[in-house]
Amino acid sequence: MLIPEIAQRRDELLQRLASAADPTPVLVAVSKRQPEAKLQAALACGHRVFGENRVQEAQAHWLERRAAYPDLCLHLIGPLQTNKSDEAVALFDVIETVDRPKLARALGKSMAKLGRRPRLLIQVNTGEEPQKAGVAPDGLADLLALAVEECGLTISGLMCIPPAEEPAAPHFALLKRLAVKHGLADVSMGMSGDYELAARLGATHVRVGTGFFGPREV
Ligand SMILES: *Cc1c(COP(=O)(O)O)cnc(C)c1O
Repeated sequence: MLIPEIAQRRDELLQRLASAADPTPVLVAVSKRQPEAKLQAALACGHRVFGENRVQEAQAHWLERRAAYPDLCLHLIGPLQTNKSDEAVALFDVIETVDRPKLARALGKSMAKLGRRPRLLIQVNTGEEPQKAGVAPDGLADLLALAVEECGLTISGLMCIPPAEEPAAPHFALLKRLAVKHGLADVSMGMSGDYELAARLGATHVRVGTGFFGPREV
């Protein structure tokens, strides 16, 4: 039952993305708070790129599946505490939420220690919301310089989560502008409600949870 349902939603998402933008953005299926059976169904459909917002839950979902699916690509899309830096570097292929000097330094150390170099994106708080993670747009240049020069990191792109109550387009446009300005290839933006808009405005990665898997468990 689950496999055809997820296969159908996935095909439709991929088709819509392909009509919205060329090259087609990568569909990151956000698997947080989804049941095991749905993860397994997504894998059976051939999907391999997943997003998680908590390290511990991601380990529970994916650590053992790595062996069976060596081509998995796991994105961390939630805030990361420095004391989880080693675990994040060990598990994830892409960490989208670098947002402060302390975390950049911790990731540099973890990567040297573990000999693993996940792709790194900086999260930009485009709406400058006090409760939200991410560096403010006018702090991006300094954080980039610190990450590269002091921590020896390679930053591949930018990620944002626009304010829920505002139109997303200006935030997507701003994130794309910042990425172009700094010569960064990856632009992660757009979720279930606005992934097509994000694709049209230059996303290279969209993060779709409920639109891919259906409603989350509480
Ligand atoms: C949960 C989450 C998503 C997916 O949200 P949906 O509305 O279910 O598509 C995307 N990005 C981030 C950062 C998230 O935490």
